Formats: sequence, structure tokens, C-alpha cells
Amino acid sequence: MRRGRFLGRLRRDFENWGDPVSRDLGASGELFVARLRLVLVLVLGLIPLKSVAADPREVDNWIGLGSVAVALVVSLAFLSLARRPEPPAWLGFATSQFDVAVISLGSLGFLLTGSPVTTTNSLVHYTIYFVALGGTCLRYDPRLCLAAGAAALVEHGALVLYIGLTIPAERLVSPLYGAFEWDNQIGRLQLLVVATALNTAIVVRSRRFWLGSMRDRLTGLFNRGFFDESLLRLLESRRRSRLPFALALVDLDHFKSINDRFGHATGDEALRHAARRMQEAFRGKDCVARFGGEEFATLLLDLDGRTASARLDAWRGSLAAEHREPPITASVGVAAYPADGDTPDALLAVADRRLYAAKQGGRDRVNAEA
Ligand code: GH3
Ligand code: MG
Ligand code: MG
Repeated sequence: MRRGRFLGRLRRDFENWGDPVSRDLGASGELFVARLRLVLVLVLGLIPLKSVAADPREVDNWIGLGSVAVALVVSLAFLSLARRPEPPAWLGFATSQFDVAVISLGSLGFLLTGSPVTTTNSLVHYTIYFVALGGTCLRYDPRLCLAAGAAALVEHGALVLYIGLTIPAERLVSPLYGAFEWDNQIGRLQLLVVATALNTAIVVRSRRFWLGSMRDRLTGLFNRGFFDESLLRLLESRRRSRLPFALALVDLDHFKSINDRFGHATGDEALRHAARRMQEAFRGKDCVARFGGEEFATLLLDLDGRTASARLDAWRGSLAAEHREPPITASVGVAAYPADGDTPDALLAVADRRLYAAKQGGRDRVNAEA
């Protein structure tokens, strides 16, 4: 039962990907990891730098320094992508795979330079996998936890298998790291599996709490706090691109009389129905929120005022046509960015004024003008 619930949540996480909360969660975590990666590369870079200074004729030292320089360039590129207002969707996957691959390449380096037991037995090097896998939790994406864990397992497992099966046992002994032993190696691979499962569970659970704190319980829509934050962030990103979007305030008509005539439970059900229909009509990139009582707010991305009001009018028409007992109709005020303003207060004031005018004009209508 419990396992079923956990797997169910994991499946829902996979299905609901691309919603605004997931994007925001992932983006802030990615930025943190990008900064951490840069600091780590700079700190670790001191080691080959010291070696080159001590012995500039040793080629291995220059190879070490060159690797750090490459890692530095890649880390800077990842940081600049993570700092974008809307980072590319693939960034989390690329960076988490990169982190694991760098560790595996280090292990491969030990093998190629004639120290296979360092690859299989070094505790410090192997432990860095857990740092990289722990970092995937900060992207709040269980897919990344699983993919990074699988990559670590496959890459490290392949090296261990290759070393264990092809190199004679007498060469697999080191004064510093001891002897190669299958039991020990299998135990290490099992620990990678456990860490991956644990990270995935942490992310699935924390996503549930995070998502819950942004949702309205009755309707399941985003709440006012999330809407306000989304609007702020959207304006920030649009200041450069000036791409249009529309903000709509929706107020159900004569809702008090629905409660009075049919009871609160029916009123609640009518609210849920309107919310569901709204979510269906504006799913995907658009943010649909419960703004308060029987009021909703939505951000329709990349649409000008005219196109947005046509879509809202289609939703309004279908709502009025399909729900007759009790009848639900809605009035809508629409403000367009950038024509009607470029601050949250300005856009909300325009939408509110137009909503009021829609009520005055007879309700059950969309108003995007004057
Ligand atoms: P108008 O067309 O002018 O908007 O009229 P109205 O009756 O919808 O407006 P008013 O603001 O007077 O009333 C809003 C009503 O919505 C009052 C309140 O009881 C009801 N309401 C708000 N939240 C909920 C809720 O969660 N459940 C139910 N059942 N009713 C709610
Ligand atoms: Mg109202
Ligand atoms: Mg109302």
C-alpha cells in the first residue's frame, strides 16, 4: 500500500513534468549547484597547480592542470546557462551527467596511468560520486536522481568489471589501497544503488510538500502566493524579451446566491468544476490560480490581449453551456503586457477595472478593453 503510494507519486511526478513549479524548483537548485561546482573546481584546481609549480617537467601534472582548465570552462558555461531567467530544459540532465562522468573519467585516468587499484579501492575518489548524486536532489527532479545514479553505477561498474576480469590478481594489490576484492566491490556498487533510491525518495517526498504549499486545497489550483511570485518572475524575464502575455481575473457570477439556494457543498462543487475546466483549458505553460473566494487568475503566456480574450471567451461559453444545475457563469477582466502596464500592480489594477466593467455590463462576459 505504502509502496503503491510512493510509486504512484513518482509516476505523477513524471507525468506532470514541465509545470511552472517544477521548472522554478529545478532552476533555483541548478543555480546553487552551478556555483558549488565552480567553487569545487577552483579549490581542486589548486592541487595540479601546486604539482606543476613543484615539477613543471612532469607531463602528468600538465594533464591534471589541463583537465581542471576544461572543467573550469564547462563549469562557467553551466553557470551562465543556469543564470538565465529561463534555463534550457536539458540543463539539469546535462550537468548531473557531466558531474558523474568527470568522476568516472578520473577513475579511468588512474587505470590508464597504471594504478587500477586506485580506481577500484580509493575511498576518497569513490565517495565523490555520493557528492554528485546528493547534488541531484537540489534539482528536485526524480528523473535526474535516477539517471545520474544509473550513470554512476554503469560507469563505475564497467571499470570494476574490466579491471577485475582482465587484470591478473597479483597486479591488483597496492601498498596504499590494499587488494582488489569482489565482495568489497559489489558492496560499493550496492551502496550506489541505495544512495540513488534514497535521493529519489527524498526528492519525491519534498516535491509533495513543496507542491502542496503552493496549491489551494479546495480546487487544486495554484494559490495566490504562487500566482504573485509567478507574475513577478514573468515580468522580470519579459523585461528583456518584451514578448506579450495576458493576465486575466475571473469572478464567478452571483456565487453568493448559488450558496444560498443550493448550499455550500454544492457551491464548493461548482467552484471545483469551474477550476477543473479552467485548468483543462489553460494547461501547460499557463499559470492558473485561485485568487481568492470565487475568483481565479491566470497568466496566458505569449498571447496578445485579443487572442487571450478569444480563448477566455471560449472557456466562458463552454462553462455557461455545460453547467446548468446550478448554472455557473463567469465575468473576466483581461490586461495585456506590455500594452496595459509592466508592473504587477498596474496589470492587476487594469484587469480588476475591466472585470468590474464586465459585471456592470451584465456579467457572463470577457472584457479586454477600456
Ligand atoms: P458577483 O456576480 O457580483 O461576483 O456576485 P457574487 O455573489 O459572486 O459576489 P460576492 O463577492 O458578493 O460573493 C462571493 C461569494 O462566494 C460569497 C462567498 O460565500 C462565496 N465563496 C467564496 N469562497 C467560497 C468557497 O470556498 N466555497 C463556497 N461554497 N463559496 C465560497
Ligand atoms: Mg468576487
Ligand atoms: Mg462573484
